[in-house]
Order: sequence, then C-alpha cells, then structure tokens
Amino acid sequence: MSSCDVLIAGCGYAGIVLAERLASQCGLHCIIVERRAHIGGNSYDKHDDAGVLLHRYGPHYFRTNSDRIRDYLGQFTAWHPVEYKILSQAEGRLWQFPINLNTFEQLLGRPSTSEEMERTLAEWRIPIERPRNSEEVIVSQVGWRLYEMFFKNYTRKQWKRDPAELDPSVCGRIPVRTNRDDRYLSEKFQALPREGYTAMFRRMLDHPKIELRLGVDFREIRPQVQCRHVIYTGMVDEYFGYSLGPLPWRSLRFEPETLAQEWFQPVMQVNYPNEHEFTRIVEIKHATGQKLPVTTIVREYPADYTPGGEAYYPIPAPDARALYEQYAVLAACEEGVSFVGRLATYRYYNMDQVVGMALAEFERLRPRLRPA
Ligand code: FAD
Ligand code: UDP
Repeated sequence: MSSCDVLIAGCGYAGIVLAERLASQCGLHCIIVERRAHIGGNSYDKHDDAGVLLHRYGPHYFRTNSDRIRDYLGQFTAWHPVEYKILSQAEGRLWQFPINLNTFEQLLGRPSTSEEMERTLAEWRIPIERPRNSEEVIVSQVGWRLYEMFFKNYTRKQWKRDPAELDPSVCGRIPVRTNRDDRYLSEKFQALPREGYTAMFRRMLDHPKIELRLGVDFREIRPQVQCRHVIYTGMVDEYFGYSLGPLPWRSLRFEPETLAQEWFQPVMQVNYPNEHEFTRIVEIKHATGQKLPVTTIVREYPADYTPGGEAYYPIPAPDARALYEQYAVLAACEEGVSFVGRLATYRYYNMDQVVGMALAEFERLRPRLRPA
C-alpha cells in the first residue's frame, strides 16, 4: 500500500497543472499515474526519426486571451511567437482560410474591398437570429455557397454527423472576417513553447513532492493507494464503469510521412473539406520554426472511437450533452474526487481552457487540502 496526499489520474495539462500547484504551493505529496508511456496527454510532442519535432496527437496551436494563463505557463517555458496560417483545398485550388477579404477576392477573381464583401455577405446570409446548430451558425454568416465549399463535408468527415446535428460552437470556432487578417485563430496571444510542450511539462513536474508513474492505469492502482483526495482527468463514463451507457467520442488516425525535401506545402496546415478521407495535412515545421533539410507531414483521418482506443474529442451535440449531464450528477456526488479536464468534463476545450479549469480547481481545493 502506498500513500500520498493527492492521487492524480492522467498526466495531461489538467493533471500536470494540479500536481505542480499542489506540490509547489501547498507542499502536498502527489502521485500522478498515466497509462500511456509518456507525459503530456494529447499535447505531447517528440522528435521523430528524421529529427522533426512532431505533435504526436495532432497539431497543437497554443493560444489564449488570458495573461494569467500565459504567465503561469511562462514560468516553465520561453515562447516562440507564431501566426498560425492555413489554407483550404477546394474546387481544384487552394483558398485563403478562414474566410476573409482575400478569399472573397479569389472567389470574384478580381480585387475588392471590405465594404463590397460586407454588402455581398449581407445578401448571401440566411437571416437567423440565434443559430441553434453548426449549419445555422455558418449560413447565417456567409450563406450556402461558402458553407458547402468549406464546412459541410469537412464537418461530416470529422464528426460523422451533419453540421445541423452539432452545437453552434463547433463550426463557430472558425472566424469569418471581412478584412485581410489571415490568421487561423483570433486570440491575442499565439505562441508555442520554444522547446516544445514536453520540455515544458518536464519542468512543471520537476518537484520532489511529485511522484510520476507511467504505464499505470488508475483503475488498477486505486485500491493500493491511500490518499486524502483524488483528481481524475480520464474519461468520465469509464470512471463510472459505463453505468449509464457509453458517451459518444470521436477518434483519429495519424499518418506521418517523412519527405527528403525541405518543405511540402506553403503553410502549416492545408484542409481538405471535399476530397480524400483525411481532413487535413499538417506540416508542423512551419509553426515550430525548425530548420531542417527534410520534413514530416501528417495526414489526419477521422475515426470511430472503439473502447480501449483513444478518445480525442467529446461530441458537442444535444444528445451527448444530455447523457453527460447524467454522469455529471454522479461525479458531483463522488466524495473526495475532482473531475477536471477535457475527458472528465466532456468539454471540447483548448489547452488554455484546461489550464484555466485546473487553476480554478486548485483555488477551490487549496483551503481544503492544507497539509494535515
Ligand atoms: P488529455 O491531454 O487527454 O490527458 C488526459 C490523460 O489521462 C491522457 O494522457 C490519458 O492517457 C490519461 N488517462 C486517462 N484515463 C486514465 C487512467 N484510467 N489511468 C491513467 N491515465 C489515464 N488545444 C489547443 O489549445 N490548440 C490546438 O490546436 C489543439 N489541437 C488539438 C488537436 C487534436 C487532434 C486534439 C485531440 C486536441 C487538440 N487540442 C488543442 C486540445 C488539447 O489536446 C486538450 O485541451 C488538452 O490536451 C486537454 O488536457 P487534459 O489533461 O484535459 O486531457
Ligand atoms: N471546420 C470545417 N472546415 C474547416 C475547418 C474546420 O468545417 O476547414 C469545422 C469542423 O467541424 C471542425 C471545426 O470547424 O471540427 C473546428 O475546427 P478546428 O480546426 O478548430 O478543429 P480542431 O483543431 O479542434 O480539430
């Protein structure tokens, strides 16, 4: 039997931030267990055989509007500022994406202005006051033609659901602009940890009160550890033995390919809404700024989630949320356990949002878990 103050299940952002705070600010002994063979959860990065620093579970573009979250992580990493740029391949050519004035000019085949674009979109838009789903959120901004060109089939491929069956927040993540701002994301701070995510996580975990156990499943170790509190960051339905039925999750397959050339594509990411079975090709070197004579690209194939596989995305849709709400009731009744992070709260959260959630949970726990 081992003992500790806090037993943490999962070594992604949620588990790491809580371990770091509880150990460094409260002197609490934390055991953090992770069933994979590495730290970092889905934000893990590692050099491949060609020396390219790859995001192993899909591209992770760090961004935030929060100075507090940037400064907190900034204690453990320097930043490499990046303006994330992507393109979309449709109708036999590459388009500026997200939709902006440049896209509109490509469509017209001549120069234009923000005013003309706004006037035209006002004609194309389908008037919907409060969009209720991802189809409505896009057609209410740009109309059917651009929706069908860029969103409809990408979304069907990615989620195996029609955009009309998904919350507005899914496609609503993508900005529509009438100026020439061509960044994929709109948050004010956009940067990658200079030496990568894993290097940052290593520094966060480097504390004598943090004990890391890799290749260990929480379900197996739980009966062998005495602790005052548990932090669980795995899938919430798995925690409860699927007692209310499995939640719908979406998975992915990543297909890396190393090429003996410096660059493969003009930007970090090209989306393929209507062609191929993959959704996007990512050439991460564009973002990390690595200088190498070779490159590695990754094709990303959406996949069904099968038990025992990797649950990459919760599905933001009313039916899934209704089932999650029932699990949330069970979670709220679970004494001495905090459910934190993307899998445990079934939220399509970005990294900074998970950091924010973990910092808030730390503030809630701090007075309760003062060293005994
Ligand atoms: P995770 O990173 O999933 O970590 C949970 C960990 O718990 C995992 O390592 C898992 O193995 C472990 N675990 C689960 N159950 C158990 C158990 N029973 N015992 C032991 N260990 C267990 N965010 C952005 O901000 N920008 C992006 O560009 C971006 N791109 C993304 C692209 C893809 C393809 C995906 C899938 C996600 C992306 N994200 C992005 C989101 C980001 O990955 C998450 O916000 C973040 O990783 C969530 O951290 P977490 O700790 O909640 O979960
Ligand atoms: N999306 C789309 N076409 C695109 C890019 C995105 O329809 O070219 C939709 C799709 O439903 C996707 C969602 O917008 O799942 C969010 O895209 P994002 O790139 O933020 O997804 P993530 O990086 O989280 O997979």
